[in-house]
Amino acid sequence: MTDVVAFDDVLIKALREAKNVVFFTGAGASAESGIPTFRSGADGLWGDFDMEDYATSEGFTRNPKKVWQWYRDRRQDMADLQPNTAHNVIARWQKKASNVTVITQNIDNFHQDAGSDHVIELHGNIHQFKCLNDHPVVASSVNTLDEPPLCEICGSLVRPDVVWFNEPLPQEAFEHAEMFSRESSVFVAVGCSMDVYPAAFLPAFAASSGAYLIQINPEVSAFDKYAHTLRGKAGEVLPQLWLAVWGEVFS
Ligand SMILES: [Zn+2]
Repeated sequence: MTDVVAFDDVLIKALREAKNVVFFTGAGASAESGIPTFRSGADGLWGDFDMEDYATSEGFTRNPKKVWQWYRDRRQDMADLQPNTAHNVIARWQKKASNVTVITQNIDNFHQDAGSDHVIELHGNIHQFKCLNDHPVVASSVNTLDEPPLCEICGSLVRPDVVWFNEPLPQEAFEHAEMFSRESSVFVAVGCSMDVYPAAFLPAFAASSGAYLIQINPEVSAFDKYAHTLRGKAGEVLPQLWLAVWGEVFS
């Protein structure tokens, strides 16, 4: 049974009249599709795996083949999973209003799979590849290989194009994310824990320009203090929000 969310009139008006809207999604948005979140423990992505081995450039350099195959396994796990209602509502929102930008911390490509076409990926994409010197590599030429090939341009190892724990965010993606956040009139954080910087600066950029901040999250987060919080799962809250803003049932 889905809990019914009561929406504030001010929030609905802000969304309906927004000049620019940003949807900023985190692990919580994809968790509803069955993607494990970046936690340790039985239900987390890392489980018994040591993230030092699988999510740092040192780990990759120590054992490229092991890390390469681990990501291939994760892609195979994801092949059975699909975008959920949250991704679908956001994609539809982009078509309904022309001023919607999606910024995501997720690497699963689910926003694009759901039909979103303007997605800023802060942590890369598990289906894309680059070499250790950042030359892009065509995915279809490498994604089924048993071990990482060498870059045709510079000869260095090819790796998944995801941001590992000891690495900065991709500069261009972050600059775009900052720009769209600053230009937003409504900033909606969906399933974000807001404890990972610099991504957690984005709502602050939005707020500094006067944006109305909304959070959709079933769990208490550091963002509760600053945002109008809609407590619940994204896949349940967003269709209700759609109905409240656009006056039509999301289906
Ligand atoms: Zn290269």
